[in-house]
Amino acid sequence: MAQRPYIVGNWKMNGTRAMLSEARAIDRAAQRHMKVEVAVAPPFTLIHAVHREAEQIGVGAQDCHPGEDGAHTGDISASMLADAGAKFVILGHSERRTAHGESNDLVKSKAQAALEAGMRVIMCCGEDEKTRNSGKAEKFVLDQLRASLPEMDNAEERLTVAYEPIWAIGTGNTATVEDIEAMHKAIRGLLVELFGEEQGAEVRILYGGSVKPDNAREILSAEEVGGALVGGASLTADSFMGIALAA
Ligand code: PEP
Repeated sequence: MAQRPYIVGNWKMNGTRAMLSEARAIDRAAQRHMKVEVAVAPPFTLIHAVHREAEQIGVGAQDCHPGEDGAHTGDISASMLADAGAKFVILGHSERRTAHGESNDLVKSKAQAALEAGMRVIMCCGEDEKTRNSGKAEKFVLDQLRASLPEMDNAEERLTVAYEPIWAIGTGNTATVEDIEAMHKAIRGLLVELFGEEQGAEVRILYGGSVKPDNAREILSAEEVGGALVGGASLTADSFMGIALAA
């Protein structure tokens, strides 16, 4: 059975308690549009507060540590996030791969920890501009995903993949519908190979990279696009729900 479109807001390092009013507005709007699954990933400091406010939307985290507990100053484990109310973790985002040097191996161990803590994983992948221009984007993305994804049962419930070309994130540039469809089809092929025909076919593949209310309809109606991972445009309820309504 086809899953509902999934629209996820990645607030990145934005938001203080003043932003809870946006979360409430998103939640109210989501209650009126149940055909779309809506979720936000606020910074760690707001996860519990958003979770307490949210009746309809899912709440997740933007990262986790691969360990369970111990001497890791400044880190947060997956079970702590689950305890705070997070239902999913975004992992392998290009900003963490680049700014924090996260390798595929590390991303995979974080994903394992998130799954063990009972959370879902949104696994990001995507090529940089140089790789796209060299014609090697598809191979790069499939290799990155293959190396970042742990084994799991029930992948259709526990895993979402987000294809986010790095050159499209926060730049106002989006990939063409043809390029998005081609990459999503290639990712679908890998998911079927890794998780089997039934589960692999049901894992949602989101597109991310400068999705806005005015381009959302075209992107979200592309083949194999199961929703969107949204950065900048998720910071106000108006623009974020404008995207959700286009789904
Ligand atoms: C992101 O970083 O996940 C993202 C998609 O950002 P933006 O929508 O701002 O391009």
